[in-house]
Amino acid sequence: MSNKGKYKIPKSHALWPILWRTVVFLGIIAMIFAVLNILAGYVRDFRSEADTTYVRNLADIIDHGTEAESEEALNALSSDGHNYCIIDLYGEVVEHSGSISVSGYNDKKGEFYSGDLKDILDEAGVDDDIHKIVLDAGSNSTFLLDDYNTKIDAFSEVYDMARNNPGVLFGSSSDAVFSFPYWIAAPMSESSQILMVKSILTVKVKDYTYLAAGIIIAVIIAFFVFILMIVSVIMNLSANSKLRRWLYRDNIIKGHNWLWYAVTTQDILCKRKNAHKTYAVVDLVFVRYRNFVLCHSVKEAEALLRQVVLVIFKKLKKGELIAHSTAAALPLFLEVKDEDDARARLQDIISTLEAIPCGHRLAFKAGVYLVIPAQEKVALNQKHYIPDIDLLYNNACAASLSLSEVADSGIAFFDSNLVDEEKWIDTVTNRQQAAVNNEEFLVYYQPKYDPRTNEHMGTEALIRWQTPDMGLVPPYKFIPIFEDNGFITHIDDYMLTHVARNQARWLHEGRKCVPISCNVSRAHFGTENLAEYICNLVDREGCPRSLIEIELTESAFFDDENAMITTINRLKYYGFLVSMDDFGTGYSSLNSLKDMPLDILKLDAGFFRGSEDNPRTRIVVSEALALAKSLNMKTVAEGVEDKSTVDFLAQEGCDMIQGFYYAKPMPQAEYENTVIPVPGQQVQAPEAEPAPAAEPAQSEPEE
Ligand code: C2E
Ligand code: MG
Ligand code: MG
Repeated sequence: MSNKGKYKIPKSHALWPILWRTVVFLGIIAMIFAVLNILAGYVRDFRSEADTTYVRNLADIIDHGTEAESEEALNALSSDGHNYCIIDLYGEVVEHSGSISVSGYNDKKGEFYSGDLKDILDEAGVDDDIHKIVLDAGSNSTFLLDDYNTKIDAFSEVYDMARNNPGVLFGSSSDAVFSFPYWIAAPMSESSQILMVKSILTVKVKDYTYLAAGIIIAVIIAFFVFILMIVSVIMNLSANSKLRRWLYRDNIIKGHNWLWYAVTTQDILCKRKNAHKTYAVVDLVFVRYRNFVLCHSVKEAEALLRQVVLVIFKKLKKGELIAHSTAAALPLFLEVKDEDDARARLQDIISTLEAIPCGHRLAFKAGVYLVIPAQEKVALNQKHYIPDIDLLYNNACAASLSLSEVADSGIAFFDSNLVDEEKWIDTVTNRQQAAVNNEEFLVYYQPKYDPRTNEHMGTEALIRWQTPDMGLVPPYKFIPIFEDNGFITHIDDYMLTHVARNQARWLHEGRKCVPISCNVSRAHFGTENLAEYICNLVDREGCPRSLIEIELTESAFFDDENAMITTINRLKYYGFLVSMDDFGTGYSSLNSLKDMPLDILKLDAGFFRGSEDNPRTRIVVSEALALAKSLNMKTVAEGVEDKSTVDFLAQEGCDMIQGFYYAKPMPQAEYENTVIPVPGQQVQAPEAEPAPAAEPAQSEPEE
C-alpha cells in the first residue's frame, strides 16, 4: 500500500451524486413524455375513426357504385364544403374540389417542396426518399405523412400504403392543437385511385384533461422522487461528515486523535506550495504520566492532559497541529524556521507546561524530526512527495527515546546516527546466540602488577567479539546492548566458564596462576542463589575458587542492597574474591563500602586521566587508598598509562595497577606466552617498556 493510501479516508462528494440523480430524473421525465405522446396518438386515432369510416364508405360507393351513385357521393362532399381530390396511380389528380396543393420535405436534399402534388412527386423522383409529405390543404391546414421506415420508390407504394393503412398512414400534425384539418385517404381498388378528403380533427378538452392530469401527476411524482434523491445525498454528506468527526476525535483530550494528525499532516506536506517550508514533527511526551495517574486518579490525569493540550494549543500558530496518540504522547506539527527556532518554541512550550500548578513536578520530553518536503522528495527519489507520516513520527519518537531515562524535561532532534544505532542493536541482538554457539567471543587478559615490585599479581578477563565480517568488536559496542536485552547473563557465564577452564589447565601445566577477575553484571543479581550458581560453573571446570575474582560494577550496588550483601558474603564463604569495579564513578560509593564486605577496590580510570599534576586528584586518590586499607581491602588502580602515576600509586601504597603502562588486554595465546609462560620459558619484563598506545586491531586466534 502506498504511504498516501494508508491514511486515505474516502471523501464525500456532492457533485456526482446530484448530477447522476438529475440525469435519472430527466430520463424519467423524457419517458413520461414518450408514453404520453403514444397515448396522444391513440386519442387522435380514436377521434378520427368516424371520419375515416365515412370516407372509406364514400370511396366504396365511388368505386363500386353506379356512376350516379359516385357522382352523388362527390357532390355530397363538395356541397358539404369538403375539400377533396381523387388521384390515380401516377399521382395525377383526376378530380378535385378546393385547393389540393402539397408541400413536402426531402431529407436527402434537405429541401422543402410546395406546389402541386404531382409536381412534387415528380420532382422528388422515384428514387428519392420522401420521408415527410405535407399536404397543404389551404390556410393553416397541414398534416404530416409520417413514414420513417419505408422508402417510397413510386407513387404506387403511397397508394399501397394508403390502401393498407387507411386513415393511419396520413397521420395528424404533431402540433398539439385541439382542432385541426387533416386529410383522409381511402384507396379504391376497382379504379386504382385514391380518394382523399379533408376533414377537421377535433380532440375534445376532456380527452386531454386525462393526459394533462397524467402528465402533472407523473411530473409531481418524478419531482418528489428527485427531491428525495437530493435529500438522501445531503443526508449522506452530513452523515459522512459526522462519521469523520467521530473518526478523528479523541475523547480524552476532547480534540483530535492520531488518525486526524496523520491525514492532516500528510495533506499539508503534499502541497506544492509547502515544498520549501520547514516543519517539525514532534513527539511530545508527558514524562511519568502513569506515575501521575497512580498518585492521583485517571480522571485528574486526563483533566491535566486536557489542560496541557489547551496550553499548547494557545502557543500554536495558524496551520499548526496538536493531537493525542497514546496515553502520554502528544504529536505536534509546527512550522519553523530552522532547528534553533524549533528548539526555542518547544522550550517555551515545555517551560509553560512545567509551570502548570498541579501539586506535581511536571516534565515533558520532545523528540523532533525536521521535514523539508522538497528535500525529502529528493532523498526518496520521488516525483511527487508522498510523506510517510508513520516514519516521520517514528523518527521523532526515536529522538525522544534517545533522551536519558531520567524524569526530566528535554528536547532531542533526530539524526541519522540514531538509525545506525538502532540497526546495530538489531544486528547484535539477532546474532548474539549464534555468536555464543560459534565461540565468536574471545577472552582477552589484562594483567595487574604490584607497582612496587612489578610482580604479576592478578589479571582481568575482558571480552572481545571476533566476528567473521566486522573484525574484532570491542565490548563497549555490545555489552550495553546485552545489558539492556538481558543476554549479559549468558556472556558472564561464558566468560566465567572459559576463564575457569583455562585456569584449571594452566594450573595443571604448572604455569603461574594468579586470581583472574571476571565482570559480573548487575543483571545477574536477579538470578536466584547466584553464589551457588557461580560455584557450580567454576567447580565444573575444576578450577580452585580462590583463582576467580568476581568484579561487580558500582551501579550494581544500588539494586537490592540486602541481596547484594548476602551474595557477597556467600561468594566469599565459597572462597571467591569479590571486588568493586569502577569505584569513584557513582555518587554513593562510600555508602556502599560501609556495608559491603569486599576484598578489593578498583579505582576507576577516571582518577588518572589527564590529572597527574592535579594536587586535589592526588589527595582524593591517596585518601581513597587509605580508606580501602583501613577497611581491610586491597586496591587496584585502573587505566594507568604513565610512569609518574605508577610511582605516585606505589608511594601511596596501591596494591596493584592494571593499565596500559604495563600491558593492554591481550589475546589468550599472547598472555600464555608472555605473562604466564610454562616454567623455564622466557618471560617479558613488564616494566621494561611501556605498552604501545594503540590496541591491536585484530586479535590472534584464541587457542
Ligand atoms: P572494566 O571492567 O572497568 O574494564 C577495564 C577497561 O579499561 C577495559 O576496557 C580495559 O581495556 C580498559 N583499560 C585498562 N587499562 C587501561 C589504560 O591504561 N588506558 C585505557 N584507555 N584503558 C584501559 P574494555 O576491555 O574495553 O572493557 C570495557 C568495559 O566493558 C569493562 O570495563 C567492563 O565494564 C565491560 N566488559 C568487558 N568484558 C566484560 C565481560 O566479560 N562481562 C561484562 N559484564 N562486562 C565486560
Ligand atoms: Mg572490570
Ligand atoms: Mg573498571
